[in-house]
Amino acid sequence: MPEKVKILTTKQVTHDVISFITEKPTGYKFKPGQATMVAVDKEGFRDEKRPFTFTSLNKDPHLEFIIKIYDDHNGVTRELGKTGFGNYLLIEEAWGAISYKGPGVFLAGGAGVTPFISIFRNLREQEKLEGNKLIFGNKTEKDIILKKEFQEMLGDNFVNIL
Ligand SMILES: Cc1cc2nc3c(=O)[nH]c(=O)nc-3n(C[C@H](O)[C@H](O)[C@H](O)COP(=O)(O)OP(=O)(O)OC[C@H]3O[C@@H](n4cnc5c(N)ncnc54)[C@H](O)[C@@H]3O)c2cc1C
Repeated sequence: MPEKVKILTTKQVTHDVISFITEKPTGYKFKPGQATMVAVDKEGFRDEKRPFTFTSLNKDPHLEFIIKIYDDHNGVTRELGKTGFGNYLLIEEAWGAISYKGPGVFLAGGAGVTPFISIFRNLREQEKLEGNKLIFGNKTEKDIILKKEFQEMLGDNFVNIL
């Protein structure tokens, strides 16, 4: 059964990427790197489920999703771009096999970085970031998601490729 969660805030992360902070159902748990199916709770969109990754941590009182909006086609992310405070999302259980297996080099392109956001935020909490490196590919400088936060977390081990 999908759970209905209210959007509490949205924040522009880059020109086409938005952070959605939502309520968290009681007892809801996920592993850093996991995703869930998300639908917009609006007429015509409730059955249009798309996978998005949690970027918050289990200890947070809310959930966060960081989502790239594709405005050029008539999909769910375009609708998400028109969705904000007070609207609801429908989420399912957490799933996905991406998880931290120990220090290493992480490779990501664009919004593909989202599993590493919660993995690195979790390692920061545990003071275990050392020995990890992120190589992050984007089209242009303005497309880099959470540049400042990655720089703070990883220092020289945050490598951007444009
Ligand atoms: C496990 C997993 C986790 C993910 N986590 C995240 C995340 O955290 N953040 C994130 O931003 N993304 C994430 N994604 C990607 C995200 O799921 C997709 O970007 C999203 O599903 C796109 O949905 P959409 O409805 O907007 O577009 P689509 O489902 O691609 O397309 C909707 C409609 O538009 C058509 N269409 C598709 N492309 C074009 C085009 N170029 N021009 C014209 N029409 C087109 C399609 O045929 C379809 O009818 C994840 C994906 C997976 C598999």
